[in-house]
Amino acid sequence: MGQIVGIDLGTTNSVVGVIEAGRPIVIANSEGTRTTPSIVGFTKDSEIVIGDQARRQLVLNPKNTFYNLKRFIGREWDELDEISISVPYNVKSNESGSVRILSPNTGREYASEELISSLIRKLINDAETYLGDTIDSAVITVPAYFNESQRQATKDSALLAGIKVDRILNEPTAAALAYGFEKSSSNNVLVFDLGGGTFDVSLLKISNGVFDVKATCGDTQLGGNNFDSKIVDWLAERFLAEHKIDLRRDRQALQRLTEAAEKAKCELSGLQKTKISLPFITTNDDGPLHIEEDINRKLFESLCQDLLDRLLEPVQIALDDSGWEPDEIDEVVLVGGSTRIPMVQQLVKTLVPNEPCQSVNPDEVVAIGAAIQSGIISGDLRDLLLNDVTPLSLGLETIGGLMKVLIPRNTPIPVRQSDVFSTSESNQSSVVVQVRQGERPLAAENKSLGKFRLSGIPPAPRGIPQVQVAFDIDANGLLEVSATDKTTGRKQTVSISGGSNLNEQEINSIISEAKSKANEDRKKRSVIDRKNNALTLIAQAERRLRDASLEFGPYGAERQQRAVELAIQDVEEFIDDDDPQELELSVSALQEALFGLNRRFAAEKKNDNNPFQGIKNTFGSLKDELFSDDYWDEDPWDNEMNSNYRNSSYRNSRDDDPWDNDYFL
Ligand code: AMP
Repeated sequence: MGQIVGIDLGTTNSVVGVIEAGRPIVIANSEGTRTTPSIVGFTKDSEIVIGDQARRQLVLNPKNTFYNLKRFIGREWDELDEISISVPYNVKSNESGSVRILSPNTGREYASEELISSLIRKLINDAETYLGDTIDSAVITVPAYFNESQRQATKDSALLAGIKVDRILNEPTAAALAYGFEKSSSNNVLVFDLGGGTFDVSLLKISNGVFDVKATCGDTQLGGNNFDSKIVDWLAERFLAEHKIDLRRDRQALQRLTEAAEKAKCELSGLQKTKISLPFITTNDDGPLHIEEDINRKLFESLCQDLLDRLLEPVQIALDDSGWEPDEIDEVVLVGGSTRIPMVQQLVKTLVPNEPCQSVNPDEVVAIGAAIQSGIISGDLRDLLLNDVTPLSLGLETIGGLMKVLIPRNTPIPVRQSDVFSTSESNQSSVVVQVRQGERPLAAENKSLGKFRLSGIPPAPRGIPQVQVAFDIDANGLLEVSATDKTTGRKQTVSISGGSNLNEQEINSIISEAKSKANEDRKKRSVIDRKNNALTLIAQAERRLRDASLEFGPYGAERQQRAVELAIQDVEEFIDDDDPQELELSVSALQEALFGLNRRFAAEKKNDNNPFQGIKNTFGSLKDELFSDDYWDEDPWDNEMNSNYRNSSYRNSRDDDPWDNDYFL
């Protein structure tokens, strides 16, 4: 069985954590960094690029580089706000009202789930490389305030990436797990989580390894991006007033403005003022135009006042729901990069008069919490218990369009709740169960999670038939609804899966496409790796030839030098051929020829009582390269032939290795 990891799938960055030797750690990606930008793009050759590679093409290829995807997941077009859709790439609604993202380079449209699944796949691949083991399941975090559809869509993304989701965990709960891990005291904790695109606040009681979530609230369309947009608008309006050009209409300019705004925002967390300079942002009849502006913290804060108000409300609702007074809170945990903004920190202090806890890294704490949850599931961590709540009320639409709540928000999960309903007309033979989520009294104003019909109700006067409707929420916060006619026992059950932007058929076709693509990609990659390694070996051999002609003179080791030269020619000949076997053979021959040349070096040294230090270093490094385990482990031609080579007398000659360090001492 493969391993299980925790994934913080952030709007801006994603992080993977795992339990190692009983402790949660963050895994670095293949680029060596601990956070991976949540960005997916397509190059002009339609190659997919993810993370840092995708970020690098943001400005030059804005139409094919997709960020902030989490704001679209599980949402319908009508639910998106202005800021979410003002991105430099094309977003549209398809016929059924689902969000689709267009890539001109591939000529295709994508659901956000599909693009996010590529990101998940990269995170998993990198983690598998680190762990040296396969990963088949994960705990994935989502904003606590994500509704049913957004959770389901996140699960679908993982499914598309070939990963089973063992648990959907709320981000602030994950942060609290990380904060409370190995703490024995009893605390009331407020987690304030403001990331790139979402905001959550959760109140928890943590006591000896038991994590009880009391209340949660938030805004899934509010985050650091909104603060960036304020600066973008300020810059764009000033430019418009001066030059009569709206830079927000030019994709490349908009992308540059956004990046500069984010940079200025981050700088203003530490400095009182900063400069924004964007040379050659556009041109007019007079030639190139530039932006050169000073912005100070006070101005930035005045631009963002309404965002502060939006942050205030969920905190107050969560406090009310928990029944706690602010002075009953022992600790405030700040999570998410945007909590570094000084005015956000000040706001928190005005709500709860405690100095926020600084002991957790806001960028990694959620992934650490996800890793802890994965440890609880795998049994690596014991004596921890997590009791979460459902963030939004769940109910159904009754006659007259009213919302009948079956499970109120902040009910501990898992939970099962049922109620009895009847028909509104005489001889009504079926009822429609329309499931909704939200806090509004009018059903139509709440999110529809799907509907189904229970038919076959025997004729009876209105109000007589009894239909029992039950809602079941599992530990992931995912809902199953059933309706039973109590007279006939007839039952209809549905899992709410309408949340995803993809239907089942689309999901299956994407999975099979991804599988065949994965094979194709693997093949392509192995061809590229093989070529690159051959080129590296040629470069090494040429270096060695230069050393040899310095050491022995042009004909000093003629047989060995000649053999290397010929072998290089062979490799060069096959490097662009499609025949991998020929290339492997020629590479192997070059390795052997190099080996021969190096033995000659060594023999020379043996006869020489005064070895040259410089040559020793050269031999040393070659020997290290050829015989280090890394060299062989990473060998793309790690096939039978090479293992023969490794185990053969060449390899065994390591015992009487003439380049053994001892020799040089
Ligand atoms: P997260 O989703 O937790 O990775 O947070 C990402 C968000 O945090 C982005 O909007 C960043 O611009 C923002 N951020 C990161 N560092 C800072 C900082 N020093 N000051 C203000 N915002 C920041």
